[in-house]
Amino acid sequence: MQIPFVDLQAQYQSLKDELDTAVLTVMRQCNFILGKEVSDFEQAFADYVGARHCVGVASGLDALKLALEAFGIGPGDEVIVPAHTFIASALAVSAVGARPVLVEVDEASFNLDPARIEAAITPRTKAIMPVHLYGQPADMAPILDIARQHNLRVIEDASQAHGARYRGQRVGTFGDAGCFSFYPGKNLGAYGDAGGLVTNDAGLAEKVRFLRNYGQEVKYKHVVKGYNLRLDTLQAAVLGVKLRHLDTWNARRAAHAAAYTHALEGVGDLQLPRVVTGDHVFHLYVIRTQRRDALQTHLNQRGIATVIHYPVPMHLQAAYADLGYGRGAFPITERLSDEILSLPMYAELTAEQQDYVIQAVKDFFA
Ligand SMILES: *Cc1c(COP(=O)(O)O)cnc(C)c1O
Repeated sequence: MQIPFVDLQAQYQSLKDELDTAVLTVMRQCNFILGKEVSDFEQAFADYVGARHCVGVASGLDALKLALEAFGIGPGDEVIVPAHTFIASALAVSAVGARPVLVEVDEASFNLDPARIEAAITPRTKAIMPVHLYGQPADMAPILDIARQHNLRVIEDASQAHGARYRGQRVGTFGDAGCFSFYPGKNLGAYGDAGGLVTNDAGLAEKVRFLRNYGQEVKYKHVVKGYNLRLDTLQAAVLGVKLRHLDTWNARRAAHAAAYTHALEGVGDLQLPRVVTGDHVFHLYVIRTQRRDALQTHLNQRGIATVIHYPVPMHLQAAYADLGYGRGAFPITERLSDEILSLPMYAELTAEQQDYVIQAVKDFFA
């Protein structure tokens, strides 16, 4: 048996008619740039997360960059980012000329550790960027308290947590802005690059709308120096169809996670993901073991694809040598990079496929 890490084919087959119709409609109308599908999806996604505004942009990285830029964050400023995340969170800060200040994560949740934030705040700090990593909400209550006390913006990176809830409320709606990636493999994914920003701040939404579209208020009236970072109409059409299935898919992911956890509890030295801060939407099911590399090889030999998210911490990447953090700066993050492994996880994973993965993991530790 071959088990892929994600199966976008299976998802397409399950929605083929709806998706084909949506995409062909855009092609027949030839309304490719900021077509009706874009504003329809923005409205639907804003309603879904419970935010007043959504602005569709070209990628998750662009959503983060535009939020930072719209808040006037730039050279000389610092933004607090978890040490353990996909590098795009920090790259957005670098892209506007500010400095990402990394903060160690909490070992149980893999997310930004609120108890370590204050020590990293300086007079240059302008914002905190919690990341809802792997689909689990960051612990927003203490983060928002700290932000309020120090007058900092909160920009959520919700790229892995579409639909996740913290204390009953969807992530992306706690901070000043919530940024989402719709990269194809995300819980809500387009058929190419796409992203979105949600906010209750009308001024921010307007500013990001200008910035994504050459700084135009209306055609050929440029009020700020902008970019071309619009959400593509074809992608919006795909996202509009898929959004209607997101809750069903997230529920299936949670059921798969529960099945993995039930079957693998107590096996070898495995540490299984813990749901500690709210409704986890399991973008990834990430396990830990001291024998990670050997387990990955074993699973690969059985035809099971796994991925390490992420094998080299940001502070040890060549791209971030300039930040001056050495090995040992973030021991938890470094340990995670050596021990974590993401098992196959997607809504369409069948019970038979999952049993095969579980058995292969058990065989390794037997
Ligand atoms: C995917 C991802 C991004 C970047 O999204 P793109 O759409 O690929 O630009 C940012 N942050 C996190 C945590 C992500 O997982």
